[in-house]
Amino acid sequence: MANPKSDSPDRMQEIISLCKRRGYIFPSSEIYGGLNAVWDYGPLGVEFKNNVKRAWWDAMTRMRDDIVGLDASILMARRVWQASGHESAFTDPLVDCTNCKNRFRADQVEEMSGDPNVCPSCGMRGTLTAPRQFNLMFKTYMGPVEEEAGLVYLRPETAQGIYVNFQNVQTSMRKRIPFGIAQIGKAFRNEISPGNFIYRMREFEQMELQFFIPPEDEERWYQYWRTQRWQWYLGLGMKPESLQWHEHDKDELAHYARAAVDIYYHFPFGWKEMEGVHDRTDFDLRRHAEFSGKDLTYFDDLNNRRYVPFIIETSGGPDRISLAFLCDAYDEEEVNGEKRVVLRLHKKLAPVKAAVMPLSKKEELVALAHQVHDEIRPVGLTQYDETGGNIGKRYRRQDEIGTPYCITVDFDSLEDKQVTIRERDSMTQRRVPIAELRGLLAAELA
Ligand code: ATP
Repeated sequence: MANPKSDSPDRMQEIISLCKRRGYIFPSSEIYGGLNAVWDYGPLGVEFKNNVKRAWWDAMTRMRDDIVGLDASILMARRVWQASGHESAFTDPLVDCTNCKNRFRADQVEEMSGDPNVCPSCGMRGTLTAPRQFNLMFKTYMGPVEEEAGLVYLRPETAQGIYVNFQNVQTSMRKRIPFGIAQIGKAFRNEISPGNFIYRMREFEQMELQFFIPPEDEERWYQYWRTQRWQWYLGLGMKPESLQWHEHDKDELAHYARAAVDIYYHFPFGWKEMEGVHDRTDFDLRRHAEFSGKDLTYFDDLNNRRYVPFIIETSGGPDRISLAFLCDAYDEEEVNGEKRVVLRLHKKLAPVKAAVMPLSKKEELVALAHQVHDEIRPVGLTQYDETGGNIGKRYRRQDEIGTPYCITVDFDSLEDKQVTIRERDSMTQRRVPIAELRGLLAAELA
């Protein structure tokens, strides 16, 4: 079982409030009342989400020889979405309440209200219309005239940008199958029932790997990528009991998939999908070949044969995954009769790596603390904090944003050229020579 405290109904509110208060995440256009299911990342949030994305990018590209990166555009030819099936089938069944005029995803009504015939918003029975299909893609128009000929979509997934560049990447990088293409970028979905903070947004990001393989190796690579993705979360400190597999059975499978599994995370609002691993067969390249008229087969010169590559996909959203890391890291404990809120983020993910604080605002201390701060800047994002409040209060503020190390400059430091390092999780303190500080932090953060 997951940490029982993480089940508390108020937990989500505490996390949302911390994110707002401490500069992680703000509602979009807040001074105008906000925009539903759109969120802005503040100064700490952007650092944190970048760290999540960097950890993924490094694991996928920098640490391997068989995956290369790509940054495809958001706007793509309309034919792409006809080939992929999104134009005709990227729909959710929608029901309207004739009483309160709210809209819901038909498949979520029962979960929300406890009864498929009861409106989750006003609670009236029998006021929901029959379901109709609603396409989730945002539309816009290219050029000065808003007409059908200029219709383009904001991409609802990043994957298609990879498929249509398969040949460009393969030939320019002289890649032999098996190899993969990784991409991180924005995606847009006009979700009918968005919500749960950054769990389901209308503008979000995806980090997707498309791994191209020979047809006969489907099962082996599917198993391989399942394991790799699960391990990635554990390697970044996620608790194993917060994770669960969710296998798709036949009626849950997307039309293009032979097999699919989701990695579920135990969010405060329940077990929910965080990432999917999909065996997409040769559907994608076959469809794009058909719709574009281009030959997208691959010639295997070692075995002298030509085939349409199969694809194993890993698809996750950095927003949703960041939320999972935040939920997993959030902890409250009692220290000396007072509540301590601490984000136990993995050091790689923590937005601020270390904070330097002079014990008091005395000039000599402040000057030395600035020197120490400049000295450690290369280890990652650091903060200097001499703001009001005793040192304990300043430690607590850093605990709340997940800073692994606080470095205190005190009067002894002026004499012995040493500072105190205090660790976030254990709260233990040790004295370290200033001359060794940078090397020590770099080693511990590596
Ligand atoms: P769901 O069933 O939750 O709508 P999905 O199965 O449609 O998700 P995919 O299309 O497989 O999701 O997208 C892959 C990943 O992209 C998801 O696992 C999730 O991490 C992320 N994602 C999808 N939709 C959203 C969204 N609206 N907001 C934030 N992240 C999203």
